[in-house]
Amino acid sequence: MAGSAAPHVLIFPFPAQGHVTPMLSLAEILSLSGLRITFLNTEHIHRRLLRHSPALSRLARRRNNFRFLTIPDGLPEDDPRLSDVEFAKVQDSMKTSSRDQYKEMLTQEIDGWPPVTCVVADGTLHLANEVADEVGVPTLVFRTSSPCSCWVYQSLPTLLHDGVIPFPEECDMDEMVRGVEGMEGIVRRRDLPSFMRLAKSADDHDIKLISTINAHAISGKGFILNSFEALDPTLLSIMRSYYPTIYTVGPLHLHVKSFISNYNEEEEEEEEEVDNYKSGSNSTSLWQEDRTCMTWLDDQRDKSVVYVSFGSVAVVSREQLNEFWQGLVNSGHRFLWAVRRDMVVSQGEEMMNDMAAAEELEKGTKERGCMVDWAPQEEVLAHPAVGCFLTHSGWNSTLEGLVAGVPMICWPFFADQLINSRFTSEVWRIGVDMKDRCDRITVERMVREVMEGEGALRLRSSAAKMGELARKSVEEGGTSRADLESLVRYIKSTGS
Ligand code: UDP
Repeated sequence: MAGSAAPHVLIFPFPAQGHVTPMLSLAEILSLSGLRITFLNTEHIHRRLLRHSPALSRLARRRNNFRFLTIPDGLPEDDPRLSDVEFAKVQDSMKTSSRDQYKEMLTQEIDGWPPVTCVVADGTLHLANEVADEVGVPTLVFRTSSPCSCWVYQSLPTLLHDGVIPFPEECDMDEMVRGVEGMEGIVRRRDLPSFMRLAKSADDHDIKLISTINAHAISGKGFILNSFEALDPTLLSIMRSYYPTIYTVGPLHLHVKSFISNYNEEEEEEEEEVDNYKSGSNSTSLWQEDRTCMTWLDDQRDKSVVYVSFGSVAVVSREQLNEFWQGLVNSGHRFLWAVRRDMVVSQGEEMMNDMAAAEELEKGTKERGCMVDWAPQEEVLAHPAVGCFLTHSGWNSTLEGLVAGVPMICWPFFADQLINSRFTSEVWRIGVDMKDRCDRITVERMVREVMEGEGALRLRSSAAKMGELARKSVEEGGTSRADLESLVRYIKSTGS
């Protein structure tokens, strides 16, 4: 297929917030670089984006070289789709419900658009990779998580061979793990991603899942990471000898802004249209953003607020919610807390959303802070009033905190978050890690550590330096910009 038509790339994310957001940013950058883009969403995700994401209407204006297509995910409309947690359910359902339609998109011209010459497939979405391989379209694999988590996954065969996984019974969770090149003396048992931590045998479903993800990662024509060279130079150089060409093009939320602000002359648009395009919101939220918290932040002193958010998938029990709340209140610092209504679960026989708990908390919070369902997170983190970020260490949140130069308190929930939090505290030294603890004393102590005294100044200064390195990487001549240019060159080579 290569060499037969104008370059046309189809981008296919796993249907979850943390995957769709960075892949949409990459899609917009590639579109602004002159490439023709088809972005493939599940119908469910696309409906939610249309309802809540201002960035979508901006993208729709690029109709000459950008379009959305959708496929069903095969799940009933009222299914809660806690997508990452129920990873396998979504994967399996999509495999049967949308395989044929996806195959058609890769092999036939649809609506007069030229054939697809290249796929950017989410590395965790088997369907995206398998079908592209089957029909012979060159595939670039995009992993939306951190380089450190990808590398630890890729080291699975060694960890299994050496008996590190499954963990022996009654083992010391603080013992260092051997067998992951470049991470000696850094990663303890408790820092391994939850799918590895919880494995009971090499035949576990999750272990097989990691093996498949690993196989996709090395079988593509290139491996795209939402990160930047200066964050993990040693690890990336080890990884380069193992993967196909690695393109580190992140932080993508920053990179896309730089592209949008430079957008002008080549487009045959009225000046006013260009200005509208540039001033549009970047938000790709699947929830309605509550902007009242921005007004609340405006009334707070500089660096006085703890911003708390656990992303789009993590859930907490009523008890955990209460411990966080008590710890925050006892710290004496003000806080802004994003609590999704489906985030609190009761620990009964039936796990059900505990809205009452969130509502009670909201009442008790009036004095000290502000609670919203869903915050405009990037803007919140960039607000001068925010002094620290209590986060679940999702990769997008970690990058957003890092770029804003805001130190982090990490409470990882699952998956790659467990290793991201370790790197945040021990390698990049821009935060503290409260992994596996959730009590009011620890919360209070860590908030004080990150908000008060010499330690806080040190963390703030490292975070600011890291943010500066991230900014440099996406500027003209920066490493992420250079990788993006070679990525664009590669995609162009798949056309005529
Ligand atoms: N987010 C947001 N508002 C919120 C909570 C989260 O906009 O109140 C966004 C956040 O900015 C990030 C994404 O949701 O881009 C969460 O992705 P991440 O990888 O951090 O975690 P996940 O949701 O995948 O666990």
